[in-house]
Order: sequence, then C-alpha cells, then structure tokens
Amino acid sequence: MSTPTRITHLIGSTPWDGTAERTSPVFNPATGEQTGVLDLASAATVDEVVRGAHAAWQQWGSISLTKRTQVLFAFRELLNARKEEIAALITAEHGKVLSDALGEVTRGLEVVEFACGIPHLLKGGFSENVSTKVDVYSIRQSLGVTAIISPFNFPAMVPMWFVPIAIACGNAVVIKPSEKDPSAVNAVAALWAEAGLPEGVMNVVHGDKEAVDALLTHPLVKSVSFVGSTPIARYVYETGTANGKRVQALGGAKNHMLVLPDADLDLAADAAVNAGFGSAGERCMAISALVAVEPIADELVSKITDRMGKLKTGDGTRDSDMGPLVTKVHRDKVASYLDAGTEAGATLVVDGRVAEFDADGEGFFLAPTLFDNVTPEMSIYTDEIFGPVLSVVRASSYDEGLALINANPYGNGTAIFTNDGGAARRFQNEVEVGMVGINVPIPVPMSYYSFGGWKNSLFGDTHAHGMEGVHFFTRGKVVTSRWLDPSHGGLNLGFPQND
Ligand code: NAD
Repeated sequence: MSTPTRITHLIGSTPWDGTAERTSPVFNPATGEQTGVLDLASAATVDEVVRGAHAAWQQWGSISLTKRTQVLFAFRELLNARKEEIAALITAEHGKVLSDALGEVTRGLEVVEFACGIPHLLKGGFSENVSTKVDVYSIRQSLGVTAIISPFNFPAMVPMWFVPIAIACGNAVVIKPSEKDPSAVNAVAALWAEAGLPEGVMNVVHGDKEAVDALLTHPLVKSVSFVGSTPIARYVYETGTANGKRVQALGGAKNHMLVLPDADLDLAADAAVNAGFGSAGERCMAISALVAVEPIADELVSKITDRMGKLKTGDGTRDSDMGPLVTKVHRDKVASYLDAGTEAGATLVVDGRVAEFDADGEGFFLAPTLFDNVTPEMSIYTDEIFGPVLSVVRASSYDEGLALINANPYGNGTAIFTNDGGAARRFQNEVEVGMVGINVPIPVPMSYYSFGGWKNSLFGDTHAHGMEGVHFFTRGKVVTSRWLDPSHGGLNLGFPQND
C-alpha cells in the first residue's frame, strides 16, 4: 500500500504552504485503499484566500473582454487536450467508469465553449432619445468574489457549470469542492493558470462545514453557487441570503420516468437501465422511480431484469459498466434500503448484494438492484437513495402517474416514454418539474440553456449556466445620459418626465 498523497488548497496556482489543523482521508472506492489526505481549511485560511481573490478581482473585473476571451479560448484548448487525465483523476476518487468520467468533462467543456461567447452575452441595450436628447443604456458588471461549493458526484462538471461563466463575467472565484474527490478541481485550476488567468482569480479551498460557513458569512463574498443534498442546500440558501449574498442552491432529487402503455418497451427498458444505474445511480438526474402505467408493468420489469443480467460491476478502469459507490459509509447506507424495501413489502426482483465484482481489494460495491410493487409511503420511494436502486411503481393511468410525480417534494428531472405526441405535450405542460425529457431519460440541458429543478431541488431564483448563469454572475446597471445643451436649462422641481 502506497503512502497517501497530500492534497491542499490552491491560492491562485500556488499550493498552500501552511499546516492544516484538520485533514480528511480520500479513498479509491474501487479498491477501498486510502490514496490521499486532504487539508481542511479553517475560517482563517478561507479569509486569507478570499482576500487574495478580492485583490485579484479588482484588476480582472476591469480587464477588456478581448483579453478575457483569449484566456477562455486557451483554457478550452488545454482542457480538451487534458480531458483524459482529468477523467482518470475522477475515476480514481469517485469510482465512476472512465467513459462516464470523460463524458462529464465533455459536458463541462460545453459550458466553457458557451462562456467563450461572453462578449456577445454581456451586450447591453441602448435606447436613443428616450426623452429629448437623452439616451438610456444598460450594462452588466461583475460581482466581485464568487463562492462555489460542489458535490462529490460530478467533481469536474458541476464546478464547470459555474466557474467559466463567473470568470468570463469578470469575477474572482473561490471554489470548495467535495472532500470526497477533490483532485479533479485542483487539476482544472492548474489549467486556468496555464491558460493565462491572472494569479488569484481562481482559487481552491478544501474543507467541510467550517470552510462553507466561513464563505457564507464572509463580507467580501458576493455570491454563492451551491450544489448538494437538499438539507444542506436549504441551509446554504438561508445562511447565505441572511448574510446578504446572492445564492443559487441546487438540491437533491427523486426523478420519475413515466412509461405509457403505447411506448416501445425495449427502448424504455434500455433507457431505464442506463438512467437508473449509470454512475451507480449517483447522478442528480438518475431515474430512481419508474412509473409503469398498466397493463405493461410485468413485461417491462421482465425486460429490465434481462438487461440487468448483462451488466458488469467493477473497477472503473477495467471493462465495467458500473463502478463502486463513493464511500463505504454511502455503500452501506444504500444497501440498508434493500432490507427496508423488503420489510415494507416491495418485491426485490434483483438483489445487488448478490453479485461478483471485477476489482481487487475491498471496494465499495453494490450491483444494480431492482424493486417492483413499490408504493409511495415506502422509504425506498420517499428517500433520495442516490445509489443503483431502481423502484417500479405501478399506476393505473396517466393521471395517476402524473399526480404521483407532482406530489413529490423534489422536482429536478423527469421523463415520459410514449409514442403519443398529444400525451407528451400534455405532460410537458402539466408536470411540475424543472427539466423534462420526452423519450429522453436524462434530460440535462445544453450549456446555452439553464440547468435547474423546481421545489426542493433548487433554492433561489436562478438556474445554472445559460443566460441565467450570466445574469447570476453579473449585476445590471442602467445609465441615463445627456450631453447638456441649452434645451436642458431651466428650474423644475417636479419628478422627471420624458418629453
Ligand atoms: P452534500 O450535500 O453532502 O455535499 C455538498 C457540499 O456541501 C460538499 O462540498 C460538502 O463538503 C458540503 N457540506 C456537507 N455537509 C455540510 C454541512 N453540514 N454544512 C455545510 N456544507 C456541507 O452532497 P453530496 O453527497 O456531495 O452530493 C450528492 C447530493 O447532491 C445529492 O443529494 C444529489 O442529488 C445532489 N446533487 C444535485 C444536483 C442538482 O443539480 N440539483 C447536482 C449534483 C448533485
């Protein structure tokens, strides 16, 4: 067993040279081996990093759009060239298979490409002669230091939902990645420096609640973008806004796939397996509840079961379809739902504990699991399990299925599978969920649209990336201007009116 590598904060591109009061272990989930030891930032370290970021913003915020865009294009090229290296880091600490890790870097790259168009995205409006010889125009300016707090499940993509746009808009960034898989963010931060971003504009602090609280209360932090579980998202939103910050806090999910009787059941079964078990179900857009509208449930469950028998679970660097869960604690928690579901009366069709795993050591594995006859009061239905556990709920009609989805406290993603265009149109209109797929099981919007759920899946008004991201990371200002001439003279204490 090799000695765990020290992983520390990055102040600009410079590794922090202090001694951490507290550290946290980082594991390779496929082997169970501890590979890293992560410095956890104190409030004093966060303060030091935020002050450095604020000083850097004072230059970066007023640098020309041309120069900002040059950095973004250089960063795009570097990230594209190094995406395999970043993917390998993700697999080593998160556990997802390499192709999936590469996929998340590619989706992050799309946001960088969107941010490369920042000169166009920041164009304001101009109205000539709104009153006699008076013009009005709008501009958008950077906020200052923006904090980003990200979850373990997409260690590269979720940070890239925010960082490129925040930087393109002229802000400085302090990011606190998940303590479970911190290395990808450090590697990407190094690429920003290599791309020519001035020192101190992009910074990484590692840590836990202490670091998060320090960011949420720091007077120089102007905005917080958070992604994680719903209880923490709610806390971050409430604490951040109480401290005067602009906050977007994306929370947990329970995503439903509604399959109507007219759907192509082979394609629906493929989609359910891909969306239920990809990344071991550790995706905020994973399908965890499949609502089968009768009479198709028996046939659909049988097709899903057949496909599950072909999946290989193992080390993500090998020829596996699905990797391990991120930690032993999380694996054990997910596995405990298999007992809970059985005790509550659901039918355990495929038991993920009974499987062989292609890996060495003591990895945190659980193979794909399928429950049938799940009902809405069972904990396997109400809780966000965040693992490879798919629950089939049987419904008697479209209306019953829709009511189930709309009654759920989460509203991140959902999908309908049908060949009936009218039913699909009804669904997109009636479902109370932020991202909807029609025969698309994981409807993650492209970078030029915005990503975000409804209800307990997002606190705040603004979704991630797209134009909503540009608005989040800038403040609007409207200027009314005239160049004085004699027609503007005279005394008038009345409220200004246009003429
Ligand atoms: P998490 O809530 O445990 O952690 C998220 C971040 O919050 C991490 O950086 C973590 O260090 C920090 N944190 C943890 N405990 C904290 C505390 N008590 N106070 C302050 N900060 C704290 O989430 P996770 O387990 O890393 O990620 C999985 C969750 O994220 C799932 O619920 C998933 O649905 C959600 N998620 C949502 C989206 C979305 O777009 N809505 C996207 C990805 C993940």
